[in-house]
Amino acid sequence: MNLHEYQAAEIFASHGIRTNAGAVASTPEEAEALSQAAGGPVVVKAQVLTGGRGKAGGVKLARTTAETREVASAILGLDIRGHTVRKLLVAPAVDIAQEFYLGVTLDRARRQNVVMASAEGGVDIEEVARERPERIVRTLVDSFLGLHAWQARQIGFALGLPADRVTGFATMAQQLYDAYLKEDATLTEINPLVLTQQGDWLALDAKMTIDDNALFRHPGSESLRDLDADDPTELDARKSGISFVKLGGDIGCIVNGAGLAMATMDAVMLHGGEPANFLDVGGGASADQVAKAFSLVTADTSVRAILINIFGGITRGDVVAQGIAEALRRVDVPVPIVVRLSGTNAEEGRRLLSEAGLTASDSMDEAAAQAVRAAHAA
Ligand code: GDP
Ligand code: MN
Repeated sequence: MNLHEYQAAEIFASHGIRTNAGAVASTPEEAEALSQAAGGPVVVKAQVLTGGRGKAGGVKLARTTAETREVASAILGLDIRGHTVRKLLVAPAVDIAQEFYLGVTLDRARRQNVVMASAEGGVDIEEVARERPERIVRTLVDSFLGLHAWQARQIGFALGLPADRVTGFATMAQQLYDAYLKEDATLTEINPLVLTQQGDWLALDAKMTIDDNALFRHPGSESLRDLDADDPTELDARKSGISFVKLGGDIGCIVNGAGLAMATMDAVMLHGGEPANFLDVGGGASADQVAKAFSLVTADTSVRAILINIFGGITRGDVVAQGIAEALRRVDVPVPIVVRLSGTNAEEGRRLLSEAGLTASDSMDEAAAQAVRAAHAA
């Protein structure tokens, strides 16, 4: 789950990080009132779940309250990479001496957390990584020992900081690592982390992604979710306990089990097809779940055929078949359906499916090929 800057900044602050204290506005009038309260120049920032807001005109300085109102109405409603701006952060403008990058994420290849820092902050870090990778200092962190003070200081020196600035930087790096760990984040990032003209370290931006699988450990975190920003179909699926990810192809997939769902997509591609989605109905495959899955898949108008792939382990094949048949009585599915059913009571299940007029096979390979042919024929 991605957090907005104002949400991430609040969490960072709770871990001791100095952030630029701002407030959220959703109208130009509110923004104006906030700048009045700030009593000086402010920065007005679009709150959207995407980067590069600065370049897209979503971050602007305003010197007066009238200018704040103007800038706010220009930014509100703006489309930034497909995200509509509905909220603004209004914060006191800061006199920046130098901009840095600081981030913590997981290095999957090394199976360790990694702290990344660069003296080239404020700009697109992906661009720095591509063009001048030597400008990014990467430090792997032992999961059990955490980020040591000496390691954090070493990063500061590697950035070329003078000795009297290193302690402040190292503290910030340890706090950001602490936030990453305690909040079960997969990313905590400050870009830019700035040194002000007054010589203070300050987080001028805040980015954070919480691991969806750890949300249950953080009661209340669900309220941070921006429902406007999520794909409505994926949201709908989540409510029903179905894992659904929309993809670009034309073969809808309905599968029980995440691993089997991945394998099903591979089988489709092996036969020259393109999956329209990843879909795991979860443990069982009741009529309710299957009916929900049908409506999720057919909501995508590019779907030309549906491949259902069920392996009956604890779930019995005949029960699944009844569920599919019952679901088909409830929802209208306008495209051909191919079912692969094997495992416990699969034979009985396939008999029930044939009675319901569906093509059923016990081979995943064969069913995938049939689904691809059906989609091409359509
Ligand atoms: P992003 O483009 O989405 O990452 O948005 P940021 O919050 O990082 O802002 C982009 C840039 O705006 C920063 O790198 C700064 O250069 C500038 N900026 C943001 N806040 C201030 C501020 O308070 N004062 C000044 N002078 N510049 C700011
Ligand atoms: Mn930024």
